[in-house]
Amino acid sequence: MTGMKKTYQEVFEEVYEEVEYLPKQGTVADYIPELGTVSENRFGVYLASLDGEYAALGDAYEKFSIQSISKVFTFAMAFDVFGGDLWMRVGVEPSGDPFNSLAQLEYENGIPRNPLINAGALVIADFLLSHFEHPREAFLRFLRKLGNNPDIDYNPKVFESEKTFGYRNAALVNLMKSFGNITHPVAEVLDFYFFQCAIEMTCQELATSFLPFANHGVIPHSGERILTASRAKRLNALMLTCGFYDEAGQFSFKVGLPGKSGVGGGIAAVHPDYYAVAVWSPRLNKKGNSYLGMNFLERLTTKTGMSIF
Ligand code: GLU
Repeated sequence: MTGMKKTYQEVFEEVYEEVEYLPKQGTVADYIPELGTVSENRFGVYLASLDGEYAALGDAYEKFSIQSISKVFTFAMAFDVFGGDLWMRVGVEPSGDPFNSLAQLEYENGIPRNPLINAGALVIADFLLSHFEHPREAFLRFLRKLGNNPDIDYNPKVFESEKTFGYRNAALVNLMKSFGNITHPVAEVLDFYFFQCAIEMTCQELATSFLPFANHGVIPHSGERILTASRAKRLNALMLTCGFYDEAGQFSFKVGLPGKSGVGGGIAAVHPDYYAVAVWSPRLNKKGNSYLGMNFLERLTTKTGMSIF
């Protein structure tokens, strides 16, 4: 931004002054015990704009567990390889149910509502296992390319913790396998899924990695296309309608940007043609979205007057 307009950094600072006095609501997820070890008062936010401006505050350069935000990246990889064939095995409708719900899957014959809930991401993991000989390495390569950082990696402690306590995810894969919607051994699918959830990134890396989704599928720093413009559009549509558990309506209503949250307290969102933003605060509201993160983004789009609506 130039001239009389405020910089994003100035807006960040104004918004932060407001949100830091909000009551300390929400709780850190501890159903994955390793996630529960994170200090609840961490807060970081980073915005990367397509014209090269950036803004950062707080713990913007601290690594955290991206958890379900990884579902956007695995979906992007699978969409690029398999295109419309994905829709035979996963839908594009919001679920209106919690992220790890089993009930809907039972009466919808093992076809998950969308790729951004656990069941859908497990099907996407199954697709990736069919295509890549070394799926973990392929996934890391993809993330390092997007984030422009060769050090992006997973946290083995979070991985082990999830694997030990991943009963519901195991139930989801088994249920889908019983319907014929999982082709690989259950353990292999779970292994890859826990790996993707255990990836750690900073807000800076996450915002940078989301920029291609604000840029019609092209990585701005390299010019490489990772998705066709049409597929990037569809991915954004899925994030808007399905990216926030059963609170996608609220997020759209309050913030007005396509995005995805994770139980590690991260939220990444895009304003197509303008910017990508990532915020991290581990206290989650009752629906599993970062309490402060959502508040920050609501004020950001309100103050800048910039949302997709
Ligand atoms: N790894 C988490 C799980 O499967 C991801 C949940 C999330 O971030 O939504 O339970």
